[in-house]
Amino acid sequence: MGNFHNLPAKANDRDFPGIGIGGFLINLMDYCATETMIRNTQELIQKIQPEIVVQDNSGFALLIREEAGKKLILDESKPLIYKKIPNPMPIHNVAAALKIKPDILIASDWPVKKLKDGDNREKEFEKKLHYNKKWAIQTYQFLNKTPNNIKLYVAYQGYTLRHMEIFFEAISSIQFDGVSMPIRNQTLGQTALFLMQLWKMGVKNIHLLGVAALFPMALAAFFARHFFEMVTMDASSYKDKAFESKYANPHNLSPVYVGENTIIDPDVKMDCKCSACKRRSFLYYQNLPYTYRHVLLCSHNFWATENMGQELHKHSTTVKSIINFLKSKTDKVRKIEELHGVLSLVEALKNKVIRYLEAAVG
Ligand SMILES: [Zn+2]
Repeated sequence: MGNFHNLPAKANDRDFPGIGIGGFLINLMDYCATETMIRNTQELIQKIQPEIVVQDNSGFALLIREEAGKKLILDESKPLIYKKIPNPMPIHNVAAALKIKPDILIASDWPVKKLKDGDNREKEFEKKLHYNKKWAIQTYQFLNKTPNNIKLYVAYQGYTLRHMEIFFEAISSIQFDGVSMPIRNQTLGQTALFLMQLWKMGVKNIHLLGVAALFPMALAAFFARHFFEMVTMDASSYKDKAFESKYANPHNLSPVYVGENTIIDPDVKMDCKCSACKRRSFLYYQNLPYTYRHVLLCSHNFWATENMGQELHKHSTTVKSIINFLKSKTDKVRKIEELHGVLSLVEALKNKVIRYLEAAVG
């Protein structure tokens, strides 16, 4: 495998989809909250032998509670779960990592909310910066107290290139191996600008959170090919779709419902070569009991995503080659045009200052 890795998130020992073909993303709250969970996670890693293990920080649990108006603790002297409230602090993140020994640890963070208004974004960025700066530095300090081979990625949480400059200036006292970034609220153009800026800052490794759709993955594959030493992505969509009895079309990842009592579009061919689908038909999926269908679809959906990622990476030699590849796979013409525009801009502006472009890409 090259420098482009797709990691299943939310996997467990019953539906782990990627034995031998991918990595594994665990997070602090769901995999490391108790000694028993840590032991189970260690055993699972032993069993599935992923190519790469990334430990995420469960900062998202803070955002979910915050958005629901629920109480937060944010106190490192309290345990990871205190009075049933998640309290994922750097000290817990590192303590778990030293036991699990992931390849990559994502420093603790508190994600910014999805906001449109500029003033609100500034306030939100400033509020979270206070914590995100402190927690990145603390994660680094705690991790470095004990000899280990874990690579540290810091998590960028902001809305603009200026925020990016401010955050990295604020943590300039620490060393890190890569940067983790959510892209769920970004356009392709914004993601591309952030990635270019990180590359210009000398960042070598990137983890993109929640990437499984065709076009963001194509963008990430292009950057993996031309800019970074390693790009990893993670998503749980393989599993979320399986829960809904949806089969990811291996040619373009569009979902096909394969539950009972449905007529599947005859234009969609069951020609998948993965171990779950080989020599099987859609009817086979439709007639399976739900639990078996779920497990097989997890396996298929992950394979389809992973295989598409590798195909995109392979076809990323030039902007033209990846665009032609996408044209052969999907009829989403406007999305292809959008990506084409973004990648052409990236190629043209690799060696220029890019901050002034931000308004142009929307
Ligand atoms: Zn398949």
